[in-house]
Amino acid sequence: MPLFAYRCDECDGRFEVLVRPNRTPEPTTCKLCGAEAIHKVPTAFALAHSELDAIRALDPMYKRMVEDQMAKTPEAEPMRHLAKMTPFDVVDDPGDPIDF
Ligand SMILES: [Zn+2]
Repeated sequence: MPLFAYRCDECDGRFEVLVRPNRTPEPTTCKLCGAEAIHKVPTAFALAHSELDAIRALDPMYKRMVEDQMAKTPEAEPMRHLAKMTPFDVVDDPGDPIDF
């Protein structure tokens, strides 16, 4: 399905329309301001640009966001509590030994 790009002469906005042959009429008005002064402009991705392509394009950024959030969860570093503990030989009064 071809993707057409249009530019509005009124607001200078640009928008794209996925045109299904014989099913989708080509737009006659600007999607942004409603003016009827639009013209088709060449698009570099007129062929084979699908929703899946758009998702793939987002994927590296999305994956990074997920990894950043996962790194902040307690499960990300199970031994993190050891870093917060104070060693016995550093403490002034470690207290009485625990008698098991
Ligand atoms: Zn417009």
